[in-house]
Formats: sequence, structure tokens, C-alpha cells
Amino acid sequence: MKKGKKLYEGKAKIIFATNQKDLVIQHFKDDATAFNNQKKSNIEGKGVLNNRISEHILTNLSDVGVKNHFVKRLNMREQLIKFVEIIPIEFIVRNIATGSLTKRLGIEDGTVLENPLIEYCLKNDDLGDPLISKEHIFAFDWATTKEIEKINKSLYRINDFMSGMFRGVGIKLVDFKVEFGRIKINGKNEIILADEISPDTCRLWDNKTEKKLDKDRFRNNLGNLIQGYKEVARRLGILHEQSNIRPIKFTKPTEVNIKKNR
Ligand code: UDP
Repeated sequence: MKKGKKLYEGKAKIIFATNQKDLVIQHFKDDATAFNNQKKSNIEGKGVLNNRISEHILTNLSDVGVKNHFVKRLNMREQLIKFVEIIPIEFIVRNIATGSLTKRLGIEDGTVLENPLIEYCLKNDDLGDPLISKEHIFAFDWATTKEIEKINKSLYRINDFMSGMFRGVGIKLVDFKVEFGRIKINGKNEIILADEISPDTCRLWDNKTEKKLDKDRFRNNLGNLIQGYKEVARRLGILHEQSNIRPIKFTKPTEVNIKKNR
């Protein structure tokens, strides 16, 4: 497998071509952004952890029948994935109200939702990824009715599986964002899960203390982001070989590893 030219560079990842046209390399950077790119930092080690955590989750999802783009991990920061045409929608699933939902609708932070709530946002940084309805999706041909039906089913399956997986290690899956892509498999058009699933794209709270183990540590200046991500990896059994990882401490509201740009 030969690494080719850079095809695309996003906020947290770079996609490289390979010598096989249906496969690309996904490289995880240490860059962190929040609030539509207004807050930026470089957090040493974040890309390595997200590469491992995303591999773990997508491999497990594949085992329970959720088709996705992951092929294999190549090294600490890179994984081989299937090349897909990304559907320009961010699919958000919420189990507990927090973040933009509470701000937008005045729902009390921490409200447990009776049923998982699906939201759609247009993938467009210039517009700040605005919330859209199914009607917008169909009116502007961003996806078909059939595709959205399939994706919604898959979202509930992914949520069920991940909620259980995290519950098993003492973590509440509060919400998450996923993306899907179109691909031809044996001449047939398919929709598969793509992008990444990591503490950058999920909200993960410790079951007992409700301490945040995800990117909210960066968004809200809570500090210790890497320790949070490492704690997630350790509980999922990904970091067992590293016995020198110190237990998580959430005391200081400063991010030692963050070099603030602004
Ligand atoms: N999310 C994401 N990328 C985005 C926007 C949201 O991964 O561009 C994730 C976010 O980490 C959270 C969920 O989607 O797990 C819901 O995010 P929310 O809309 O509350 O985002 P906020 O505006 O608070 O970042």
C-alpha cells in the first residue's frame, strides 16, 4: 500500500490517496477546534488516541453488522479506510440534553431524554453547520428518503450498541455525531458509516461523578483533555499495555498540554 497525495485536509484529519482508488488513508492530527473554528489548539497525543478509539469502536460496530469504512490501522496516527462520497449532513444522536440543544431550546442541561433524539445539521463550516429538517434534506437533494430511512435505523443501532458498550465501562453516552458515505460494493450502491467516532465527536460522562471525558474539556476550558481521552481508552481496554498511565485527576481548570492560539 503506497501513500499518495493529500486529497483533503480538515480540522482534525487529513485524507491521503493510495495506489488503490477505492482506499484512502485517514491521518489523525493533534489539532483541536471548537465553536466553528473560533477556538483552536494543538493537543499533543490527541490524534493517536482518536485513531485507536475510533478503530476500536468501528471494529466493534462492524462485528454487530454496522457496515463502515474502517479497513485497518496502519500506524499510530493513520488508518486505511474505504473511499466514500460523504453525505453532507452531520447526524447527531442525543440521549441527554446538553450543548447546543439546551442553548437553542432552553431545555435544562442534563435532562434525560425519554427516547434518543436525532438531529440533522448541514456540513458547512462557512454557515456554522446549521440545523436542518428532513424536508430541507429532500428539498435540496442532500439525501433521498430511502437513504435517510436506512441511516435513521442505523443511528438507533449505533446508539444502542455504543450506549451499552460505554455503560459497561462506567460511562454515559450523552450524545454523538456521525457521518455516512455512499459507496459501490459489488456494483451495488450502499450507505456506510464513515469519518470517526471518538471523544472528539461524542459526549462521554463518568457514570458516577458525571465528569466529562470528551472534547467539552477543551470547549469549556475544563483542562486535562488528554487524561480524559486516555481514561476512555483505558476503560475500553485499548491502553492496557501502558501501565504507566496515571489515574485521572480533575482538579485544575487549566490545560497543561494546550498551547492556546488565542
Ligand atoms: N459534534 C461534532 N462535530 C460538530 C458538532 C457536534 O462532533 O461539528 C458532536 C459533539 O461533540 C457532541 C454532539 O455532536 O457530541 C452534539 O453537539 P452539539 O450540537 O451539542 O454541539 P456544540 O455546539 O455544543 O459543540
